[in-house]
Amino acid sequence: MKAVIDKENLLDILSSFLYENYGVKLKDATKMQLYNAFCYVIRSILKNKYHDFILEASKQESKRICYLSMEFLVGKTLKNNMFNLGLYDMASDIIKDCSFEPDEIFSLERDPSLGNGGLGRLAAAYMDALASSDYRGEGYSILYEYGFLRQYFRDGEQRELPDRWLDSSIYNITRADEKSVIVKIGGNIVNSDGNNKYDNYTEIIAQAYDMYISGYDSHGVSRLRLWKCASNSNFDMDAMLKGDFNELISQRGESELISMFLYPPDNTREGKILRLMQQYFFVSATVQQVVAEHYKLYRTIDNLPEKVAFHINDTHPAICIPELIRVLSEDYGADFDTALKLTKECVSYTNHTVMPEALECWEEKLFIEYIPRVYDVICEINKRQTKDIYKCSTREWNNVQSIGIICDGNIRMANMSVYCSRKVNGVSALHSDILKNELFSGFYNYTPEKFTNVTNGITYRRWLCQANSKLALAIDNCIGDGYKKYPQEMLNLSKHLNDKSLIDDIRDARHFNKVRLSDISKKLTGISLDPSSMYDVQVKRLHEYKRQLLNVMKIICYYLEIKNNPSLDIMPKTFIFAAKSAPSYYHAKRIIKLINKLSEMISRDVAVRELINVVFLPDYNVWLAENIIPAADISEQISLAGKEASGTGNMKLMLNGAITLGTYDGANVEISELVGEDNIYIFGMRVDDVSKIKDRRQTVLNSIESNTRLSQVIEFLRGDICGENFSDIADYLSEGEYPDPYFCTVDFDSYINAFRALSTDYRDTKKFFAKVLSNIARSGYFAADRAIAEYADNIWGADRVEF
Ligand SMILES: *Cc1c(COP(=O)(O)O)cnc(C)c1O
Repeated sequence: MKAVIDKENLLDILSSFLYENYGVKLKDATKMQLYNAFCYVIRSILKNKYHDFILEASKQESKRICYLSMEFLVGKTLKNNMFNLGLYDMASDIIKDCSFEPDEIFSLERDPSLGNGGLGRLAAAYMDALASSDYRGEGYSILYEYGFLRQYFRDGEQRELPDRWLDSSIYNITRADEKSVIVKIGGNIVNSDGNNKYDNYTEIIAQAYDMYISGYDSHGVSRLRLWKCASNSNFDMDAMLKGDFNELISQRGESELISMFLYPPDNTREGKILRLMQQYFFVSATVQQVVAEHYKLYRTIDNLPEKVAFHINDTHPAICIPELIRVLSEDYGADFDTALKLTKECVSYTNHTVMPEALECWEEKLFIEYIPRVYDVICEINKRQTKDIYKCSTREWNNVQSIGIICDGNIRMANMSVYCSRKVNGVSALHSDILKNELFSGFYNYTPEKFTNVTNGITYRRWLCQANSKLALAIDNCIGDGYKKYPQEMLNLSKHLNDKSLIDDIRDARHFNKVRLSDISKKLTGISLDPSSMYDVQVKRLHEYKRQLLNVMKIICYYLEIKNNPSLDIMPKTFIFAAKSAPSYYHAKRIIKLINKLSEMISRDVAVRELINVVFLPDYNVWLAENIIPAADISEQISLAGKEASGTGNMKLMLNGAITLGTYDGANVEISELVGEDNIYIFGMRVDDVSKIKDRRQTVLNSIESNTRLSQVIEFLRGDICGENFSDIADYLSEGEYPDPYFCTVDFDSYINAFRALSTDYRDTKKFFAKVLSNIARSGYFAADRAIAEYADNIWGADRVEF
């Protein structure tokens, strides 16, 4: 692809920036100065490019795709933008000429931590894909001052530090030129002379900040608009005159709190209110501004659904539904039914979870107190829904209970989202089927045409070309580099399954990445890794349903086996974990401690430490993922079937040629169909098997009783592990009314067998790397570009901007 500017031009801009700002020549610039100069160049290129793109998009009246998400886990942006703009090689040469390593410069950027896991990472991937495919994409979220927690360990336990990421003045977030938006909260609605009047509310100001995200080899640039909260400048004059500065400060502090934290703990009433205010704050500002811009251009709201799509990434932004209805009726004169109809045509919803405890519900009371106008709209929606059900000839009353919006004093956000969306999608084939047949079956019976699937996708250029440049080069040499624009071309690799030199290149790349990860591990934990060992990787948020515990049970089983039989000739293995736990998630934190203690115990044991190494890398984030994933041999995707909606970690690992050891869950199902059963290791119960279990407790107890290895593992947990005892976890697995809620014990045996088979196959390098290559060759399907094309065609009805 052609770079946006040539080298001479780039050198000119860099040099004059450095001279004007620091009075230095390019060759004398420090690392930080050079970093700032590159930031400046990229920022101005992107701004100009965005301007040109929007000019053309406006001419063609291209549909605006407004993607609303509480999280955007973008990862470091400088290298990504350079790569996508075709400037990466040029910039690397310049950096090397200045006697630095490119990664030294890029690592000066802090990971923007505006998200905490898969959902946020997905939103970021879609910004990249929208731009790369020339769609007019706009992300909307909050400019959190503190991102998700920074994790470290003390005596093996997770501790948390605040992540004040904004401090390091992220280079490509700039204040938008547009006027701020006023969001009104609290207050009450009073009826005077038959008219409703909203009174006694508090005004808060939403200021817009923008981050531009470049597409690859395209004209597109996505704009991520982040709202920051400021208090009203109409400050309390009385307090001022009385000299009551404490009052002023507290008024200011309260509203600014709204954009302070990502995920304030919501186990208290105050925390819940803050969450609700965050949600309303950013969707209200977004909806008000987008509709105003639309109206200014077209002088009507009738064509809003043709020109604007609002997409909600899970239900956190679902309040945009009543808010849009409110804005259309209060500010633009639509009657309620018209406003509802327009809204239903504009909004679409992606569901991310079927776990009942994760389905968002809000007490009516909070809505009445804090967003009374929104509450009134929701009541009206609820009435309309009840009427609809009445009208329906089948009148399946047992359904009404499951699809109602307001129920027992609670507002059920998922039900409101389904009822008011044009389309609803799950994030993998399996998950979308569960939505239709179980979670939303009541809705599916009424409106089957609403339901669809879009299997998640990943920014494969980031995860392959940037994170694993050695592997990308090997692929380039074999099939050319067209796959970077057209991911399906990766399939051409399957013609080269026996290509010796390609296999050698892939092995070399893997080895290089393993050494790189070992260095990072040494730095972060003091533990180096043996690059000639098999790297078995489980990296993702820590959650019971993801079953890191099952992995630990496997490691303990393996450890006991070696202890019992020291002469066992086994291939050395490194077990790598990285995962953050929610600060208040007690059980997850115990598992983290267990892994760390096990790691310590094994590293002290001379008899086994050559064969087993366990390491828990702290503070999992995008940067760490970029360094772990390219080094992985085995990808652990072992959630209980039916629980992981899709996963995207599984796709990133597959793309980098790790072999999946997983359950038949989420997108693992599709990976398995693509690569065939010879190239994946599937084990454990399927969704049907899980739902067939009648007596959960007895099933667990039978599994333990019938398997001596398993009972030994549980006994082991009751013993001393580096000064700590994990009887609580043993009890969790085997005692009480609901032992082992995620059935680690039930899948244990089949997991161990699958791991054995895999370990044996791993020793035959030629055979193993043929599997690796098959996985890489089939991974094009999981490109976010494919997912975005499906969203655009089947959900948003949006066209690309033509050039
Ligand atoms: C991809 C990614 C995730 C999601 O991983 P899953 O295995 O799909 O749960 C979470 N965190 C980070 C930093 C990621 O890059």
